Amino acid sequence: MTLLRLNKVCQRYPVGQKGWFGKPAHELKAVNDISLTLEEGETIAIVGESGCGKSTLGRMVALLEPPIEGDVELAGIATAGLKGQALKDLRRKLGLVFQDPYSALNPRLPISELVGEPLDVYDIGDKASRRAKVLETLESVGLSEDALDRYPHEFSGGQRQRICIARALVLDPALIVADEPLSALDVSVQSQVLNLFAELKRERNLSFFFISHDLTVVDYLADTIVVMYLGQIVEQAPRDAFFANPAHPYSRALLAAVPEVGKGKRQRGLALQGDVPSPINPPSGCAFHPRCANATETCKTIAPSPQTFDGDDKHIVACHYPGAVIDLKKPHSKEAMV
Ligand code: ADP
Ligand code: MG
Repeated sequence: MTLLRLNKVCQRYPVGQKGWFGKPAHELKAVNDISLTLEEGETIAIVGESGCGKSTLGRMVALLEPPIEGDVELAGIATAGLKGQALKDLRRKLGLVFQDPYSALNPRLPISELVGEPLDVYDIGDKASRRAKVLETLESVGLSEDALDRYPHEFSGGQRQRICIARALVLDPALIVADEPLSALDVSVQSQVLNLFAELKRERNLSFFFISHDLTVVDYLADTIVVMYLGQIVEQAPRDAFFANPAHPYSRALLAAVPEVGKGKRQRGLALQGDVPSPINPPSGCAFHPRCANATETCKTIAPSPQTFDGDDKHIVACHYPGAVIDLKKPHSKEAMV
């Protein structure tokens, strides 16, 4: 069953000083026309460099901010205009985990209250049953009973992230939205928390909307990979197809930076040049063209439409020359270097 459906979702933010008639000077397109579906039990990983719109998309999926255009449908319910109790009821299906487990936990509350708070908010059970549910949830993330009456400062970063995960799980959600949940952790504990996510995925029929710039993590967890560039999807594919046969030059460049991940085609020496351009004034045609060694006049003027790749209708790519070998001898366009 489809759990989440994004239908032509857009997010734009006003930026710059307001001019005459109170209109903002510019508009920043953080997310532009994204459609995708997530099935029950599926894990989608959203990848891309910083500034590509991953967190903005995640906030819309998490029902923290409504899209300016398009709609987010969760468990068959369209969320546009949803308010009050109806919105609160739907949010119960979501568990949210963010990057920084230090700022996510109120230092003045004991773990029992931090993890149990969602049960209070939804008025579930009595004091004793709440404590039992909190304990059961803490144990499922690898913490023990003696954590209950302790405070956040008594725990390491990895343990704090486990506490945040317990808090996200305590209402038995259907979908976990996790935005870079490993990035703030020490490398040594990242793999432990990653294993915890893998275990939760195996043992519960949970879906994950997992945002990460780290392809090693994605390789380990994802069923489907979605690559974003400047607010749009440039490639989407089942995990194996993506790692075996990445079609977009941007995906290939991201993969070239982590040669140890996956076993598919790799092109040596392929490195991303320059930075992600500003979404206030995105490049014409294909937004990736200033950084693409394969770019032609067509790429500069015409935005590529998403198309299927390699006869696989689940593998979708928005590129005029999908799967083409990238010409490393050809210098990258000057625009990328400025
Ligand atoms: P990512 O998570 O991929 O790094 P973000 O979604 O955080 O990307 O940001 C995408 C773009 O939107 C960036 O250019 C960022 O500066 C901009 N942006 C994000 N949130 C806001 C906001 N609330 N107001 C203005 N610009 C924003
Ligand atoms: Mg982000």
